[in-house]
Amino acid sequence: MYLALYRKYRPRTFDDVISQEPITITLKNQIKNGSAGHAYLFTGSRGTGKTTCAKIFAMAVNCLDPKDGNPCLECERCREILDGSATDIVEMDAASNNGVDDVRQLRDEVLYTPVSCKYRVYIIDEVHMLSGAAFNALLKTLEEPPAHVKFILATTELQKVPATIVSRCQRFEFRRIDPADSSKRLFFAAENEGITLDSDAADLISRLSDGGMRDALSILDRCASADKHVTSEVVRKCAGVAETSHLAAFSDMIAEHDAAGCIRLLSELYKNSKDMSLVIDELSERFRDIMIYKTAPNDLDLLSALPSEYDSIKVSAEKFTMGDILRCLNLMRECADNIGKTRSRKILAEICFVKMCSGYSAETSTAAHAVRMKPEMRVTQIPKEEFVPTPPEKMSRENLINLNKMRALGEETAKLVNEESADTAVSPDFEEPPEILPETPTAPSADDIPPIEESAAAETDKSPETEKKEEPTAEKGENKAAFPETISEEDWKNAIHKCDFMTMTMLEGSAAEISDGMLIIHSSNNMLVNNVKDEELTAFSKEISDALGYNINVKIVRESVPENEDEVSKIAKLLKKAKQLGVEIKQE
Ligand SMILES: [Zn+2]
Repeated sequence: MYLALYRKYRPRTFDDVISQEPITITLKNQIKNGSAGHAYLFTGSRGTGKTTCAKIFAMAVNCLDPKDGNPCLECERCREILDGSATDIVEMDAASNNGVDDVRQLRDEVLYTPVSCKYRVYIIDEVHMLSGAAFNALLKTLEEPPAHVKFILATTELQKVPATIVSRCQRFEFRRIDPADSSKRLFFAAENEGITLDSDAADLISRLSDGGMRDALSILDRCASADKHVTSEVVRKCAGVAETSHLAAFSDMIAEHDAAGCIRLLSELYKNSKDMSLVIDELSERFRDIMIYKTAPNDLDLLSALPSEYDSIKVSAEKFTMGDILRCLNLMRECADNIGKTRSRKILAEICFVKMCSGYSAETSTAAHAVRMKPEMRVTQIPKEEFVPTPPEKMSRENLINLNKMRALGEETAKLVNEESADTAVSPDFEEPPEILPETPTAPSADDIPPIEESAAAETDKSPETEKKEEPTAEKGENKAAFPETISEEDWKNAIHKCDFMTMTMLEGSAAEISDGMLIIHSSNNMLVNNVKDEELTAFSKEISDALGYNINVKIVRESVPENEDEVSKIAKLLKKAKQLGVEIKQE
């Protein structure tokens, strides 16, 4: 039977445990002196050896012939515990047994004397997952435990364990495995298994496993089954990590504002089944290194990159300002936060790259979007609902914050329209915004924005006196009627804002018409045009039908747009000028 490497090379004595000497030495001494406590709390991130040490401890306290505080591994008790047949060693995963009943059962059980061992040892993993009532039940047991019982609680999240529990335990903090120790262990396992392991491959595995030995051995396992000679390239392939050369290429292209290049490379990686969120993570790591290098160029040991990558980090560091680096890091963080929530990971990654290449900033992204994409929004009073990019229940906290920022921007942006409408327009076919109405809504502060419905209601209450510039807020019937013959610009905009955040971002700035029984979306957004392929079109149609309130099939058509933004703004300026001069312009 094949035994996974991480099981096979799991330490069996305290001396085998790496990187946790202060803990193992203390535990060994306690065993030797017969001074082991009755309750321990092991804390630390995953894969640092908490449960492993708990099991070694369970063997050591019960071993008939301990060697310098270590279990002998040969006596009856040791073997019983090793092969899992000892009923006196109880492992409990609090993640799945977190109720008060589970703990009560445990509490009743502890009263009985052990079957074969000297001590009954309870190992409760992920103890922070216990419910409040369960913690209380456990607390009673911890207060007066029978002499034949020992508890080892393990957790990755100490802050979630009640102080009353913590104070009753001896606490040990497991640190992340030192990369050098992790590499050493990997080499040991590789040699035993007849695997050739390159030293930079071992370094990379240690880095990828982020201080967790179990993960490190699992990665080695996966790599070795692909190739008995494990090189760093093999590791990258098996772990689905972007290659260093790709990461360097990405940073170069971002420095040169080469969005097309980034998209091409991204799509190549995508074809090779690279996980898009990993690409973003790896690139974040690289930008983090560039940032660290710029801040502390002499402390190369702070970099997470391999020594062979230092030169390329230095080169990249010269191409970016600190501002650019922070901006890109923010955009990637924003992307990483959202990428798990969407079915179109690739598109989200592409958007992130385009933003990084275009000097776009994460902090102001939504607000900036409002300025660039929807000048008309700020000049006429519009129903509050218009401001809502997604229905409230679908809105993430971050979107909500952006939304609030956007609202707060109301006044400022109204001014902007006058000065910059031409400069900021992205598409030449924008109508010249009408003059600002005096009753442009003043922006409520981020804190006092009432829930959407309430504010809409309040608005209507006040409105009898103000003139009727408000359209009744969209009365989309639940019953999906047959689709109409035409669609107004306003209805389309309303519909866009009812779509989910991703879709909304892609559709922004598009136009729609109904023709041949289909909704034709004209868009210059390459993400939309290139990425929503046939198989996705049904889901896409459905989402848009839901937003529109009637069922209709969707077709996406590319709308040609001048090559670069300079040209766009030139044309927009020209149009504005022409209009000022009274020249009549026919668009489309
Ligand atoms: Zn033994």
